[in-house]
Amino acid sequence: MGTLSGKTAVVTGSTSGIGLAYARAFAGAGANVVINGFGAPADIEKERAAIEKDFGVKAVYSPADMTKPDEIAGMVALGEKTFGAVDILVNNAGIQFVSPVEEFPIDKWNAIIAINLSSAFHGIRAAVPGMKKRGWGRIINTASAHSLVASPFKSAYVAAKHGIAGLTKTVALELATHKVTCNCISPGYVWTPLVERQIPDTMKTRNMTKEQVINDVMLDAQPTKEFVTPEQVAAFALFLCGDDAAQITGANLSIDGGWTAA
Ligand code: NAD
Repeated sequence: MGTLSGKTAVVTGSTSGIGLAYARAFAGAGANVVINGFGAPADIEKERAAIEKDFGVKAVYSPADMTKPDEIAGMVALGEKTFGAVDILVNNAGIQFVSPVEEFPIDKWNAIIAINLSSAFHGIRAAVPGMKKRGWGRIINTASAHSLVASPFKSAYVAAKHGIAGLTKTVALELATHKVTCNCISPGYVWTPLVERQIPDTMKTRNMTKEQVINDVMLDAQPTKEFVTPEQVAAFALFLCGDDAAQITGANLSIDGGWTAA
């Protein structure tokens, strides 16, 4: 019996990176999971089946597109219909685009605000009635160091992540007496396939070694000069789901190797 046995977790953007680590951590603690995100159907099915096989829980896949409010509500409904409840909601799906503000493509701005910010509102809106009714819930939003500080050329991402931090605080206050907590986790640079794939190109374009790319480009802002791992972020989320974290709500929790201390 894991600490989350009998509970159900919905994790958006869990076909890759940090989201997949969350889903596997919750499953490892005994929760049934709803996974979500894009990818090749065969790859997604492999991850879904591996969660069931590795942890002896049930996992279902929702193809909901985080730009579509009705599909997000459908994802929460799928969890409730399949498992009877959605106890844990992790709003994690996210994309990035980098451009000077005056050239920032309007469609990219709209997509980032929709996926990185509004999707969390729609998911919370759909999941809260059930959590209130049952008198227990955990809402965790993946924010970013960029919910606390800015970097140039990331106007949409920084705006969305600051927005997520504000949404987190508001929802926490509204649900404070319902035993439903709402927090955001703010990672610095996390070692995901997405980050790893950028290294060879940067080595070529800047004529740098792998170590120089990691330390002087990627980890320039991260004092430890080490990446956060998806598993460390997931372990933090798992702690937030436990009884020991019942009084942690409305918090913006950094896991960023000291980035935002500087
Ligand atoms: P990733 O690209 O590995 O995963 C993103 C996930 O979101 C994927 O499963 C993808 O399919 C899904 N997704 C994208 N658009 C979607 C849509 N429209 N509908 C449904 N799913 C969609 O990236 P990651 O690094 O694991 O990032 C996860 C979260 O962590 C994001 O919110 C990101 O902003 C945040 N974050 C990442 C880092 C980092 O360094 N990697 C740092 C801070 C915060």
